[in-house]
This record gives sequence, C-alpha cells and structure tokens, in this order.
Amino acid sequence: MVELEVTVELHTPLLLGSRKLGMVTESLKFLPGAMLRGALGRLLARECGHSLENHVGCDFAAIFRADAQPRFGPCYPALSSFSFPFPATARQCKYYPGFRDQDEDAHGIHDTLISLFAYEEVSQDRGVEVHGLSHLLHCAECKSQSQLEPVSGFYELSGDTYWQPKPRLLRLSRTAINRRRRVAAEELLYTLEMLSEQMSGPPDSQGQAPFVPTRLRGLVWAADESQAVRLQELLPRVRQLGGSTSRGLGRVTITVDPRWDTPPTEPPDAAQQLANAASALNFEQVSAPEGSLTHRLARFNAVLLKALETYTGYQPPAGRLFFTVDCLSDVIWSNGGLPTALLPVQFAGAQRVRAFSLPQKVSGFSGATGLMRTLRLATGRGSVFVYCLNNATSEAVQTMLETLQKVEREGVGQGKERGYGWVHICSPFHLEVKPK
Ligand SMILES: [Zn+2]
Ligand SMILES: [Zn+2]
Repeated sequence: MVELEVTVELHTPLLLGSRKLGMVTESLKFLPGAMLRGALGRLLARECGHSLENHVGCDFAAIFRADAQPRFGPCYPALSSFSFPFPATARQCKYYPGFRDQDEDAHGIHDTLISLFAYEEVSQDRGVEVHGLSHLLHCAECKSQSQLEPVSGFYELSGDTYWQPKPRLLRLSRTAINRRRRVAAEELLYTLEMLSEQMSGPPDSQGQAPFVPTRLRGLVWAADESQAVRLQELLPRVRQLGGSTSRGLGRVTITVDPRWDTPPTEPPDAAQQLANAASALNFEQVSAPEGSLTHRLARFNAVLLKALETYTGYQPPAGRLFFTVDCLSDVIWSNGGLPTALLPVQFAGAQRVRAFSLPQKVSGFSGATGLMRTLRLATGRGSVFVYCLNNATSEAVQTMLETLQKVEREGVGQGKERGYGWVHICSPFHLEVKPK
C-alpha cells in the first residue's frame, strides 16, 4: 500500500449539496472520498469511451477494475498541513469558543475524554459520584462558569500550534419558473449552499486573518507502487468537482504527492514493554519512536493513569491496557446484518468500555448503476470508542497490536474504497486535557 497526499485547491465555489432542509440545500464543508473517486471514474470512462462492462486495458480498468482498488479518503479543509475532525469529546467555551493561538479572546479547546473517563471510573468504583463533574462541564475561564459545548469541524496541528480551519459557505438563491404559467412560483424558490473558494488564513501579526484559497487535503491509498504512479498522473487531470460544473462551479487544481516521511517503526519488543508497563502501572518506562502505535498507546495510558491517581485513595487495578478507536471518517459497520452507529463490543481482544458516538446518515452515488445509494446509518467522523484489554499479557497485547496496526493501515467496515472506515488509535488530541 502506498500513501498519496492529495491537495484540492478551489478556484470557484464548490457545490457539495448534502441534504435538503426545506428550500435550502445544505453543503458539506469537506470533499467526501466518494466524490473524488466518482469524478476520476467519470473522467477516465469518458477518455477511453468504453461502455461500463467493457473497460479493458485502459486507465479506468487499472484503477477501478483492479483486484485491490485504491482507497479515496475524504479531503478536509486545511491551512498548512492536514486536518482531522474534532473528536466527539472535544469541548470549548460556549461564549468564547476557539483555539487561543487563533483568537486571543478565546477560552481554548480541549479534550475531556481522559478526565471524564477517570471521573466515571472512580465514581463507579466507589459506588457514589465523586466531586469534580462540574469542573469537567464548565469553562474554567468564565467567571459565570458557562457550560462547555462540543466542537464541530476540523483541527490541524502546525508545529505546536493548533488551528481550526474555517471554510466559508456561500448561499445562492434561485427561482425556478413554473413552466405552465411562466411565472416564478413561490414554492419553486430554492437556495443552494456552496463552499467558497476563499477561506480565512492564519492570523497575521495584527491579528487579521487575510483570505487564502480554500484548500481541501486528504489521503489516497494506492494498492501498490504502479497504481500510485498512475494515480499521481491521473488525479491532477480532474479539473472540476461537485455539481453545476457547466455553470463554472467547482473548478479545482489537484496536486498529488507521495508521502515523503517514513512512518515510525514499532519497537520489536512492543508487546512485552506494554504488558510490563500495564502490570507495573508505569507507562513512562515504554520506549518507542514518537508517533508509533506503541508510543501513542503508552502516552494515552500514562495520562489516563495520572488522571485516575489524582483521586486520593483510588488504586487503579494493574494489568489493564486501554485504547481508543478514533473515527477519522464515517464508518459503515453492521451488527448482525443491521446498520449501527457503534463499533463492536469486543475488538482486538478488548472490551468496549465507553462509546462517544456521533450517528450519521450516509449516502452515495453508485458509479455502476448511476443511482443514489439508499441512506443508511453510520458511525460519524469524530466518534470515539474506548476499549480495555483487561488481562494485558504479552501474548494478548501482541494479538491486539497486530489487529490495531491492520485497522490503521486498511480501515474498518464497508465502503473503504470510498473513504469510509478510516480510523486512528489513541489520537494525540486526547492528551490535550487543558484548554489550548
Ligand atoms: Zn475503459
Ligand atoms: Zn469561557
């Protein structure tokens, strides 16, 4: 598998209609993988001129008829690097929202997962609610102790600085003409929302945020090197995306680069190290390259343990290893054949102990039939699931690590080629327990 970095720069507004609310068609603020995939498919089918069943020896066949198809991830708005959806557990002040680096009046954004989980764990252990819940639910900066609220949208990390890219939406009102009476009928008024080709850039020294072209960035995972080379050449040929392209909307420039840095390697004794750390209740002793799965697991468990130990008299049991599954895109999963917004109770040998699910309805456009796929329930991007491996022996941790590496590499659930099921384990954002 070869990871490709895709950048889509908008030249004109992009029509990404998602759902109709009354007379307004709302827009998404990101480009779903299915849309990029669909645009490439249509372009290649037009170029070779084959009918649907007869693609042989052409670019279309090399991409969409391959045994292993590429996965087209979603492209999220980004200012400098890549952005990710806020986890469902991120919170900000209701009255002064946003990151402090971006807005000096803001009261900051932080993640409540670890402190909330520690609070619940200790309360459960003691059989009574311990003190501290109010502290978790209210803004520490506000004198009036205003409620914290969930954060929607995306965040990106540039050096030590967190940004919240803020794509702008434009609204275009249209009137349809009643054909019989040749007048504008009131019920035929409609409004289209579109993603603007400009968004606010990083603030300058005067605190102003000048407009920059809207950029959407994401990953495409090619099955092998030759498919990657082909996609690098083919994707930039897509010059139009979304709806109403005949009216000049959705003009884009796409650039594709292979991932330049090599992913951190896992230590060969990772399972042993993590098992030892779990039984000694000391995750600071784990030595692994930053960013590796082992490192993320160790950091998450170390900070969780510290949060548990702030409750005097509470003794966390030894031999447990926690991890989160963070949904970076919507995940389509079935439970006994039925759609669900939850990941399974048992996963990688561990038990699900907490779910912060953001249910989502997803639909798609089938390239094969030309019809809309039916809407179905999914686990929305930003959902977080906490798992606990209760008896963290070296063997159990080894099996767990193998599964977790596989799901990070290959995704989970259905529709992976359309970008669904992109997950990350123990996202570092959960360590941001203080407002930033
Ligand atoms: Zn063809
Ligand atoms: Zn506040």
